[in-house]
Amino acid sequence: MKRKLAAGNWKMNGTNANLIELQTLLAAHPDPQVDILICPPATLIVPATRLSADSPLMIGAQDCHSASSGAHTGDISAPMLADAGAAAVILGHSERRQDHGESSTTVAAKAAAAHAANLTAVICLGESLTEREAAQTLDVIADQLRHSLPESVTAANTVIAYEPIWAIGTGLTPSTAQIAEVHDFIRARLCDCIGPEAAQAVRLLYGGSVKPANAAEIFAIPNVDGALVGGASLTARDFSPIITALENAR
Ligand code: PEP
Repeated sequence: MKRKLAAGNWKMNGTNANLIELQTLLAAHPDPQVDILICPPATLIVPATRLSADSPLMIGAQDCHSASSGAHTGDISAPMLADAGAAAVILGHSERRQDHGESSTTVAAKAAAAHAANLTAVICLGESLTEREAAQTLDVIADQLRHSLPESVTAANTVIAYEPIWAIGTGLTPSTAQIAEVHDFIRARLCDCIGPEAAQAVRLLYGGSVKPANAAEIFAIPNVDGALVGGASLTARDFSPIITALENAR
């Protein structure tokens, strides 16, 4: 039985003082019925993994380089993240694709590096508002999926997050029918890439303005196996009810 996943992306937020949120979260969910992953900024990975040692809380990173070491000032490699205690890494987030010009090919290379370092790759896909309005959503998702997945993908080492760019940090969310359409489409495409059994086992997350108030409705959508949450993952007060909603889903 596939475990659902509540993943939090802290983005460029948080200092040591914010680690109290993880302690509060752990106290509220000592035995969660879903997987919980928090991806703090790189500076907090080591203290966060120490704090969550021997607990069900997993810690992840927000990006990695595709090389394992070398002359890449400011970058961090997948083996370094694993060494720091990370269990997973978010790749191809739309903010990386936009701010750093990351192509899907780059994302695939990073995902291969993540897999080689035994990290779970949380690969993000999503269309812009212009693309949605031009009825190009499924074409964009198909293209991103085709080029962002390395050959090393398995159900165990990869999570796909559908994150429409226009829903991230805006308070807007697609309709449940729109989310269902894209998630069904991703599942079908995965079938073509890795076969039906593995495709069924891959966790598909929805991301984009998930809040305590809309989490239950989103988690009731077929083929939604959890969420990638930005703003509402920053505090235990907001993230905890999202975890509970996921535990109570279906
Ligand atoms: C994100 O950036 O991955 C995200 C989903 O952000 P938010 O939940 O704040 O929309």
